[in-house]
Amino acid sequence: MNITAIHGYHLAFQLPGPIGNSTGFFDRREAFVLRVEGEGGISGWGEASAVQQAVSGYIRQKLAKLVLGKPAHETGRRYAEMTEGFGYDRQGTAMLAVSAVDMALHDAAAREQGVSIATLLGGRLRDRVPAYASGPFFQPHGDPYRDFEHDAEALLKRNFKAIKPRCGFTPEADGRMALALRRLLGWGNALMVDINQGYTVAAAVESARHMQDAGLLWIEEPVRPDDIPGYLRMAEASSTAIAGGESLSTLAGFRDFLAAGCVSVLQPDLSICGGYTGFRKVAALAEAYGVPVMPHVFGTVVNLMSSLQMAATLKAYRGGAMAAYPFIECDATHNPLMTLTGSIDPEKDGCIAVPDSPGIGLELTEEQLAPYVTEHWVERI
Ligand SMILES: [Mg+2]
Repeated sequence: MNITAIHGYHLAFQLPGPIGNSTGFFDRREAFVLRVEGEGGISGWGEASAVQQAVSGYIRQKLAKLVLGKPAHETGRRYAEMTEGFGYDRQGTAMLAVSAVDMALHDAAAREQGVSIATLLGGRLRDRVPAYASGPFFQPHGDPYRDFEHDAEALLKRNFKAIKPRCGFTPEADGRMALALRRLLGWGNALMVDINQGYTVAAAVESARHMQDAGLLWIEEPVRPDDIPGYLRMAEASSTAIAGGESLSTLAGFRDFLAAGCVSVLQPDLSICGGYTGFRKVAALAEAYGVPVMPHVFGTVVNLMSSLQMAATLKAYRGGAMAAYPFIECDATHNPLMTLTGSIDPEKDGCIAVPDSPGIGLELTEEQLAPYVTEHWVERI
């Protein structure tokens, strides 16, 4: 089946009110999803996590001609061609664009063969993945943590057994928040925090000290991701596992991160690090370092369902939680792009089932996307 068209959808929605993390507040979310269309009406979905206008431009100018008229199943060959053509831009926009295309080609190829992506990749190791809620988020004005206990209770009611609140206001406030949530969650549920790159190394180390008795599973992105010496100082100073990697895109970037020994949990994002092809290279690299890999997800249900397929194939590790890794990240905020085809909440056991239907197992239509589309383009053969 050859690819006959590529559709780009720029999506956006308004939040009921502003929410935030250690770096700022936002009340609007944007997303970019890609659909490749093949002969016989088969489609495949992909996503890129940032800068939708730039990603669209890159796909339309550089990648479309490599993909149109070519078979969907030649995913490795396309990846090689797309990345060999990088030129000056070897990460960032270029890798985001390749990610969306690689994801969509895999989805289309798997649907053509009538198998799931996990099957296409060699077979699933598990059919359920423990989910963790990405949230609660900061509230503006005053104590950003004031609603966290209320919000966490709501997440427990939605069957989440692992919760990852935003963190990084002040070390002392972080400590109080983490201890309060631990009391609320008990020891049967997992708690981790995400600093979203907001702290200096000194503040991150101090925050980890204040949160020590909360028994965190991990502390995520304490400092900027290109500050490898900072990550290393944090990892050496903290007895809690350090997580990161969601914003890294190139294999060399992951290599440097892993070689420095500064993370205990690696979180590549399919929609940033080169789709399944890029992700699998990163996972292989991480395996050599004995570092568990689990997908970062914060966008639309396309990335969530794609990441579930990826997670089903990843090596298991016991990382200190009740359940073995990998976990799957669930955007637990108000996000209609996550619930386009229904609820994404975990079942009673805190897990999400991995679909065994063709592709990513998502039957998404243009009609479902329509209320959120701010721009739609198409490139045809
Ligand atoms: Mg994060």
